[in-house]
Amino acid sequence: MDARLNTREIGRKALDVEALKRSFVEWLIYSVGKDTRAATRRDWFTTAALAVRDRVVDRWMDTTRGVYTQDAKRVYYFSMEFLIGRLLTNNLANLGLVEACREALDGLGVRLEDVVDVEPDPALGNGGLGRLAACFLDSLATQNLPGYGYGIRYEYGLFEQRFEHGWQVEYPDNWLRFGNPWEFARPEVLYPVQFYGRVEEVRDGAGRKSYRWVDTDKVHAMAFDTPVVGYGGETINTLRLWSARATSDFHFGHFNEGDYLKAVESKVLSENLSRVLYPNDATDTGKELRFKQEYFFTSASIQDILRRYMQHHSTFDALPEKAAIQLNDTHPTIGIAELMRILIDQHGLEWDKAWDITSRTFSYTNHTLLPEALEAWPVRLVERVLPRHMQIIYEINAHFLTRIKRNSDLPRIQRLSLIDEHGDRRVRMGNLAFLGSHKVNGVSALHTDLMKQTVFADFHQEFPDRINNKTNGITPRRWLHQANPALSKLISSRIGNGWVKDLSQLTALAPKVDDEVFREEFRRAKRHNKKRLAAYVARHVQVDVNVDSLFDVQVKRIHEYKRQLLNLLQTVALYNDIRDNPTKDFVPVTKIFAGKAAPAYHQAKLIIKLANDIANVVNQDPVVRGQLKVVYLPNYNVSQAEVIMPAADLSEQISTAGMEASGTGNMKLALNGALTIGTLDGANVEIREHVGEDNIFIFGMTAAEVQELKQGGGFNPREVIANNPRLKRALDMISSGVFSPDDPQRFRPIVESLYNSDHFLVTADFEDYCNVHAEAVELYRDTEEWTRKAILNTANMGWFSSDRTILEYARDIWDIQPVLAAAE
Ligand SMILES: *Cc1c(COP(=O)(O)O)cnc(C)c1O
Repeated sequence: MDARLNTREIGRKALDVEALKRSFVEWLIYSVGKDTRAATRRDWFTTAALAVRDRVVDRWMDTTRGVYTQDAKRVYYFSMEFLIGRLLTNNLANLGLVEACREALDGLGVRLEDVVDVEPDPALGNGGLGRLAACFLDSLATQNLPGYGYGIRYEYGLFEQRFEHGWQVEYPDNWLRFGNPWEFARPEVLYPVQFYGRVEEVRDGAGRKSYRWVDTDKVHAMAFDTPVVGYGGETINTLRLWSARATSDFHFGHFNEGDYLKAVESKVLSENLSRVLYPNDATDTGKELRFKQEYFFTSASIQDILRRYMQHHSTFDALPEKAAIQLNDTHPTIGIAELMRILIDQHGLEWDKAWDITSRTFSYTNHTLLPEALEAWPVRLVERVLPRHMQIIYEINAHFLTRIKRNSDLPRIQRLSLIDEHGDRRVRMGNLAFLGSHKVNGVSALHTDLMKQTVFADFHQEFPDRINNKTNGITPRRWLHQANPALSKLISSRIGNGWVKDLSQLTALAPKVDDEVFREEFRRAKRHNKKRLAAYVARHVQVDVNVDSLFDVQVKRIHEYKRQLLNLLQTVALYNDIRDNPTKDFVPVTKIFAGKAAPAYHQAKLIIKLANDIANVVNQDPVVRGQLKVVYLPNYNVSQAEVIMPAADLSEQISTAGMEASGTGNMKLALNGALTIGTLDGANVEIREHVGEDNIFIFGMTAAEVQELKQGGGFNPREVIANNPRLKRALDMISSGVFSPDDPQRFRPIVESLYNSDHFLVTADFEDYCNVHAEAVELYRDTEEWTRKAILNTANMGWFSSDRTILEYARDIWDIQPVLAAAE
């Protein structure tokens, strides 16, 4: 027996191939309970994950101990969503173990790629917001910053999207069915979370009032921890997700003693709290369970933070110097009232003291200006579910309104109030988040400016130093180093691998645009990735795509403001051009779509059906001669994005200006060498500044022009359509059933909404979009010139690393410093 492995080896697990191999076999046999001959690919995945997890845990303990002994200030990132993606490759790559693991598995007759592919993709988020939280976790750990993610361990993630006759159909995402080898259940980390009940007023001997929240229903929040591996493995942070567990006294006061089945039923009901992620992107429909989810994870997280703080402190005075809580959108905003409640009702702090501590601890990130997406909970619901919090919100409001009355007229007071008094009274969560935070940020320069001019104009006037910008970023580890090995290797061969931790080093690639060999190799990497995507397309939707065609990609949630419809109308116009000119030589284009629609968003689902119907007609029309293909990939998620991003030539970022807060898909694509066609919206504005206006295709109205047009009230889509024969023809075809002969009326609602209001200004931007698109496609003929621009995109996207974003948050908002793990 090998002495090295046979000892009371309590130290770190070895990282060499032989040690890994032994670990794999041990885990497979003793924990998975299979022998090497009977093991399935899933067994091997579980085995590999558990063995890699051992290596992670060794370092995790050091990080946790280091932060604890130094009592360092920590940041707590509160988010309803963490769209982290698969972890095996991510953890292997960040530990530098990909090749060792590949070899170890090879030695056991197993291919790493097969193992990686069976890992379920934890879809605990809808899209950009959840993915941002995941990129931030990676950057926090990589920058050795003490950061915790706090969220919900949904038993069912975002629905699985399938197409049936071209229609989106939703299936449950039971991602935990085969267990989750990355997480550690912490049954001892359990906090009670209360709901309903009533508030009692109590007076002490001195006549001082205090409040008790009584007769409540209780649910327990139980912790599940997932280690977050920073690049290089120096720092391992923690993502703590809460799962609902019934308390034995849940049915107290509600159900008859001895009614066993009722009691079990109530257990099931209370555990529904963490059952499923709400699939609405940007809009939420006032559901009580959703509100309870928000409070559930926020309350548990705050209790956990205070317990940790109290290990070193006996008063709350230093809380803002030890803990920063970042609210990822308004979803966890009730935490502001919760911390106030705990400080005042449970620890007896005075109001002003509690408010000072609370507002210096919280900060808030705004993610949207769309009015329908601003959270506002009915007062009656908040009163019933969290009666004490409603009182506290009223009191926060009273303090604030008293202060502003001196310099405000009634309309201003009404706008600043935490309560919207129009119709049924509602609590404006954005206003509460703003008021209870010391810093409020937008996610791109344009979005932050618009915040100051629109939703938070009055607040900005009142607190001119509070709003600041933190342009989003993406982690270069997942989105270049792991997703695009071909390009990564090429880059490292020329400039070393320092870029993985310091993406600004990519600028050293810029001079290589004049290097013919480099351009050739850059193209070869892209072509390799396009082949990989083409194989994926063939496997999933059985369409044969031409690897030499221009891959024109729009992948993101389906929403009218993102204007997939504009892309589809241009696709139909291009289809007509090809049919009208049967002998002309067009640049072959493959339009690639992916994205889910919220299950209740009928117009978005109809747009998906339209895309699939157009694909059916175009892909089968012999006149097209393969010069245009349309592909819609089902079930867009992080793993699919990792295949698409490296293969794209053209990145569609075509939202109505002023409506996309930032976007991060735009960054992933440009970093991987796609040229952007886009509006001056969100981070596109800053992408243009960095890559240079010669290397991006900008079209359409600006945010200011959109605002003007809407305010002027003079926009008439009918006139625009009447004056543009290509657009009119495309619309006529869609509304007359050319793409839906089985149901010619099918797409009337889409065409009518364009004629009648065109709220998202699709028709207004159509002509400019088509012209600029044609320009882009023509440029693709000039292979060398296109490659130059693609290289300059990659070279100049370094600023969009989430490392840069996170360091700005750490400096300007959180005031936290890196902590290095304690020496052993
Ligand atoms: C990056 C990403 C998004 C965000 O895309 P946008 O184009 O910024 O809306 C959404 N979903 C997934 C799976 C992603 O990886």
